[in-house]
Amino acid sequence: MTLSIIGLIMLAGSLFLGLHPSSAQQENIPELEDGEEYEERIRNPVSNVILQQRFPDILVLSAAPTENTVALTFDDGPDPRFTPQILDLLAEHDIQATFFVTGARAEAYPELLQRIVNEGHVVGNHTYGHPNLVEASDMDTLETEVLRTEEIINSVVGYRPKLFRAPYGFLYDELLEKLGEMDYTVVGWSVDSLDWQEDPPEVIAYNVINNIHPGAIVLMHDGASESGDRTNTIEALRQIIPNLRDQGLEFETVPEMLDIPYQK
Ligand code: ZN
Repeated sequence: MTLSIIGLIMLAGSLFLGLHPSSAQQENIPELEDGEEYEERIRNPVSNVILQQRFPDILVLSAAPTENTVALTFDDGPDPRFTPQILDLLAEHDIQATFFVTGARAEAYPELLQRIVNEGHVVGNHTYGHPNLVEASDMDTLETEVLRTEEIINSVVGYRPKLFRAPYGFLYDELLEKLGEMDYTVVGWSVDSLDWQEDPPEVIAYNVINNIHPGAIVLMHDGASESGDRTNTIEALRQIIPNLRDQGLEFETVPEMLDIPYQK
């Protein structure tokens, strides 16, 4: 009798601890399958310019520079450690952005995914587990990763995303053909904040401000690997947003800027 009461108290205690957001969410975050952006991209420098010329209807890297608009994009979330702070900051400045989420994290943090959509942002598909699709090199892996994520996003926010971004930006002809058949627009970027290197906020801000242009798609990250940190990304945004506004640039989501649908 005494033992079972102690057992119940322990169970209640662990449930209480389990619900505590700062311990539970951070320790159990689904990991990025093929590791940190950092090591993958050092090994395989990305240039999708040639692919974009081959597949102009499927792959976009920027919008035409005819209007003074730019699009901020955030990859690898939803991440309870950093996404809420980025959403707060975007709301403070009345900016809508585009979030490329992994299925595993969308599944783990559906309320955060819902918050992204509730606040007027657009969600795109960034695969389920964040594999290197060039290394995996088979269409079955691609299809499984993409469809599983599409299903999760649809079950949470009620639409199937039209936009896809490849982990590490790694693409090749067959992948693009397949994604085109699956009715996706594949979104790259024209300005890389290099925030995954976790340089000081001033460096991240400089990378964006120094390379910005009308029609730019800017790559940033709201999600990190378990040991990663996006605090400097958030601090950099506090410098980037007013600077770009002072230059007369306005912020739009990727589908707004490209005048394409955000859902299929
Ligand atoms: Zn990614």
